[in-house]
Amino acid sequence: MIDPGTRIAIIGGGIGGLVCGLALRKMGLAPLVLERAGAFEDVGAGISLSPNAVKALKWLGLGECLAATANEPLEQQLRHGRTGALLQAIDRRHTRDVYGAPYLQLHRADLVAALVAAFGAERVQLGQGLAQIAADGELGFADGSSARADLVIGADGLRSTVRAQLFDNDAPQFSGHVAWRALVPAEALPADASAAININHLGQGRNIVSYPVRGTSLVNVVALTQSANWAEESWSARADKAELAAHFAGWAPYVQQLIAAMPEDQLFRWGLFIREPLARWVAGRVALLGDAAHPMLPYMGQGASCSIEDGVVLARALAAADDVDGALARYQAARLPRAGFLQAQSNLGGARLHAIDPDAFKAIPLKDEDALGIFRYDPVTAEI
Ligand SMILES: Cc1cc2nc3c(=O)[nH]c(=O)nc-3n(C[C@H](O)[C@H](O)[C@H](O)COP(=O)(O)OP(=O)(O)OC[C@H]3O[C@@H](n4cnc5c(N)ncnc54)[C@H](O)[C@@H]3O)c2cc1C
Repeated sequence: MIDPGTRIAIIGGGIGGLVCGLALRKMGLAPLVLERAGAFEDVGAGISLSPNAVKALKWLGLGECLAATANEPLEQQLRHGRTGALLQAIDRRHTRDVYGAPYLQLHRADLVAALVAAFGAERVQLGQGLAQIAADGELGFADGSSARADLVIGADGLRSTVRAQLFDNDAPQFSGHVAWRALVPAEALPADASAAININHLGQGRNIVSYPVRGTSLVNVVALTQSANWAEESWSARADKAELAAHFAGWAPYVQQLIAAMPEDQLFRWGLFIREPLARWVAGRVALLGDAAHPMLPYMGQGASCSIEDGVVLARALAAADDVDGALARYQAARLPRAGFLQAQSNLGGARLHAIDPDAFKAIPLKDEDALGIFRYDPVTAEI
């Protein structure tokens, strides 16, 4: 176990940074989270957490909270985009028996609120944007202040400052994929939209996913399309409903109902960016985690789940090793292959999904995520 007095700074209070903070506290360490934003914004979007991540969150003591706020889809349906015909139903009723934890879907804001409460809001410093970092833990902030940590964890997302200054400064590349999202009031949709089912309407070059969150009050909708170019990525770029509707013109009545029910001022879109895999995540006393280390396309719903895995494995490595250097080496060795695999498969997943011709659909024995064994991983027991 490393010295409990080790000063640990986590840069970024997203899902990855907060989970890491919570896992470190569980190990008896006392990290601080330094977050650039002035407040935790209520990102209006849903999130899927696969069993590999749910195992970690349960270990961190969030099981009850998840039971109260998350839905467990009983089924995942693949439907023909234009006709709405059911192509394949994947039974998710036995997920917890097969993989040791359920597959869950919830509102992102509910997850972030639970993580902040469990970690301790007093240990999060908001409005602290990192501007400079050295590998020895010297930190400089946008407001001119400075600090020093014995260990720094860069959990500052896709456009990570930590990554740019200590690892690589190549700009993220537009992937050609665009995501649109909205939360739709369930009352504006047919009653079966609130059923605990994840529905994916498929078409070549696009798809649209919907599932209920916050009990049955809201339906989370994510549409994925392709585009030749893009100017910027953001969680809050307002989108034009007519433009989205044009992408799905002629699609099934349920898809039209989803789009019609989207509140005009609550439809957002963003370009999806990718980065080359890194050969190392550790530089001196600094380690990367989450999207800062391995951003991936959302086609397998693994980005946040992988960040959650990182946080738990890093905390376990710090508890298992005698010193910070040894712990970071163990962390990198344990995580780099797994995250690289998830990143590569997720980035291929979009092309694979969008190549399916629903008119010539052949049932797949297992979804990619199951076939690749992704859900079997347990960050609580994985070898470190
Ligand atoms: C359309 C879409 C759907 C998705 N759906 C899923 C899903 O269903 N399941 C899933 O597992 N994943 C999903 N993902 C991926 C998931 O959202 C990300 O992988 C995850 O949020 C990454 O978490 P993170 O904490 O590493 O980074 P982020 O969430 O990006 O957090 C980084 C934090 O760092 C802060 N920060 C940035 N710069 C600085 C700085 N200089 N100083 C201090 N703080 C800073 C930011 O303000 C932010 O709070 C989806 C992604 C997209 C785009």
